[in-house]
Amino acid sequence: MLQARMSLPSFKEKERLLQAIAQNQVIIISGETGCGKTTQLPQYILESEIESGRGAFCNILCTQPRRISAMAVAERVSTERGEPLGESIGYKVRLEGMKGKNTHLLFCTSGILLRRLLSDHNLDGVTHVFVDEIHERGMNEGTVSTSFPNYLCLRDQLFVLQISDFLLIVLKDLLPRRRDLRLILMSATLNAELFSNYFKGAPMIHIPGFTHPVRAHFLEDILEITGYKLTSFNQIDDYGQEKLWKTQKQLVPRKRKNNLTLLVEDALSQSSFENYSSKTRESLSCWTPDSIGFNLIEAVLCHICRKERPGAVLVFMTGWDDINCLKNQLKSHPLLGDPNRVQLLTCHGSMATSEQKLIFEKPPPNVRKIVIATNMAEASITINDVVFVVDCGKAKETTYDALNNTPCLLPSWISQASARQRRGRAGRVQPGECYHLYPRCVYQAFSEYQLPELLRTPLNSLCLQIKSLRVGSIGEFLSAALQPPEPLAVQNAVDFLKMIGALDENENLTHLGQYLAMLPLDPKLGKMLIMGAFFRCVDPILTIVAGLSVRDPFLLPHEKKDQASTAKSRFSAKDYSDHMALVRAYEGWKEAEREGSAYEYCWRNFLSAQTLQAIHSLRNQFHYILKDAQLLEGEGSLDNKLSHNQSLVRAIICAGLFPGIASVVHREASMSYKTMDDGQVMLYANSVNSGYQTIPYPWLVFGEKVKVNTVFIRDSTGVSDSILILFGGGLVNGVSPGHLKMLGGYIDFFMDPTLAESYTNLKQELDQLLQK
Ligand code: ADP
Ligand code: MG
Repeated sequence: MLQARMSLPSFKEKERLLQAIAQNQVIIISGETGCGKTTQLPQYILESEIESGRGAFCNILCTQPRRISAMAVAERVSTERGEPLGESIGYKVRLEGMKGKNTHLLFCTSGILLRRLLSDHNLDGVTHVFVDEIHERGMNEGTVSTSFPNYLCLRDQLFVLQISDFLLIVLKDLLPRRRDLRLILMSATLNAELFSNYFKGAPMIHIPGFTHPVRAHFLEDILEITGYKLTSFNQIDDYGQEKLWKTQKQLVPRKRKNNLTLLVEDALSQSSFENYSSKTRESLSCWTPDSIGFNLIEAVLCHICRKERPGAVLVFMTGWDDINCLKNQLKSHPLLGDPNRVQLLTCHGSMATSEQKLIFEKPPPNVRKIVIATNMAEASITINDVVFVVDCGKAKETTYDALNNTPCLLPSWISQASARQRRGRAGRVQPGECYHLYPRCVYQAFSEYQLPELLRTPLNSLCLQIKSLRVGSIGEFLSAALQPPEPLAVQNAVDFLKMIGALDENENLTHLGQYLAMLPLDPKLGKMLIMGAFFRCVDPILTIVAGLSVRDPFLLPHEKKDQASTAKSRFSAKDYSDHMALVRAYEGWKEAEREGSAYEYCWRNFLSAQTLQAIHSLRNQFHYILKDAQLLEGEGSLDNKLSHNQSLVRAIICAGLFPGIASVVHREASMSYKTMDDGQVMLYANSVNSGYQTIPYPWLVFGEKVKVNTVFIRDSTGVSDSILILFGGGLVNGVSPGHLKMLGGYIDFFMDPTLAESYTNLKQELDQLLQK
């Protein structure tokens, strides 16, 4: 191992690096993945401190963007030092750790360091801080709302979400107070100058590395190599739903015209992306691993296994769901699914530790290792024996449009830097091959670098975190960021937090806000959970929040739209609520599962078993979060004392979804719906509320707006005036005057001349309340 360490590119730079670190408070180090940054550099410092007799006083922290890499790296380094983990080398991730009194080098997640900074403003006793993978200024594995890894991952992932930028602001602020502290920023693919400028011209050091050349094959080449016929591409309109439908074991025949085939053919015949019409470009954005066809990936993998030299294969997919779907498909393949010839492994944020070890190990003789990964394997994890890379070209990341204030989480094209990085993974030990599943001209249209998450997400959770750091004004704090978010986006977030009662008029955290800052959840959903616990109706609320975080388990296959809608309406029990329909469907499923008829139950009711399963597991995690935050009594019967009270559950739904409200406007025989900002909206075809002639509630609260051609609201629940008044805003602190004023504003806005009379009464009531 020592020999291997000494052969790493970083070893040659050891003296230069140590000197630079001694002479500068901040330095920025770049070097190809695998050159020894993470495992070696902190060790060099530890060793040199020990040699110079200061070993007992040095205290090195090295942050990793993900908990899995913190654990894997700590384990590796302690093995290199011939020590058990927890001696001089330790790790700490949320709720887990291995460290002792002799630990002098601690690998931790960025979230852990940030937490430590909360209570220990000067980082007393710490001598060196490494911030690793700073190019990963965000998290691309899907947030709470799209993937459903275990709770621990959830928690850290949320922090990772915007953490690096956040951490840098706090550390930069700390440097003048701790002149002796050393800060080292590291990454494989960073824009070093950006960081250097941020730290007043801190020196940049590059570790020259070597990788073997990797040949890039784009889609046009791949089609030639594999002989794959384009006709089997599938155009999939509703990506998630159709995919889940497929997993119901009965494949739905696809009759629709094969648009993507035409599209790809078009793309291949063009020399540059600029030549596309904007419509083509738009449709290219729906190109996902699934729509390009798992079959194509299968064909590439078969080609490698049959025709290529030995070596492991690394497949980049967008997220947990994709990875699992692909793995399931490959498992039934005669060659790829044969464990005597192929070892299929997955690599994502929530994988089990045993699987994690296998990734690094040599496969049995004559077996080819195939690792299907998220872009976690892009830079923070090095699998040495990879010779072939398959790159789908997409990653799940949050994008955010400050003007419309709507977040969307969709797989989107990666940057050229990421594509190069993915390709480079194939050249660790020998020349490699990389298969990019998109045409060359699409690659040319990729942006150069990825936008940091800070500029892509709604800042709601971040602003809450900032407040809990007690660093003063949110706007001021964020304007010190490396690339500050738009002031408008910050203002939107602050307004939102005030509206839901997490911040008071002066931007201070309310009690509710303090709890919300502790929960690794979108503040809206967090609020619904807290209220559910508070009002002792936690079971149905857990189901609803989990459902809103995963996706709708009600399927709507194109071929059977009507039957599916009818099936869903059976769960509605005339209470005008999609959310309660979900609760019933979930409870029915649990029941059916006990009786061993879950499969028929799902099939009959057009429900996705996979989604229900995901909801179930997320529910358990949320339950744990609530217990952890001491918001539950801990006794099922007590916590659910009022769960059967429909009006109460309805009110809690309203509390969580506010300000997602639309007024129901009845005119003649039809109804229309208006929201505050967008004006007219439509109900999603699958909503139970779309089946009624009239809705006996003046308001619908909804979780999500989706813009297709018109704006649709997905799931909705009818609520009354009084529920809206009492539960709409910052209830936990009492109904605030500001809140009532705002509600008055809503009513003015919605005021429909034909309804003036009933609203006049309501306004009077409100005024009275306001007086009190
Ligand atoms: P960097 O941080 O520059 O990407 P690392 O310090 O993580 O590089 O890794 C340096 C080298 O150490 C890798 O090239 C690999 O050979 C080896 N290595 C790191 N982690 C492991 C591990 N868990 N198992 C086996 N080898 C490892
Ligand atoms: Mg590293």
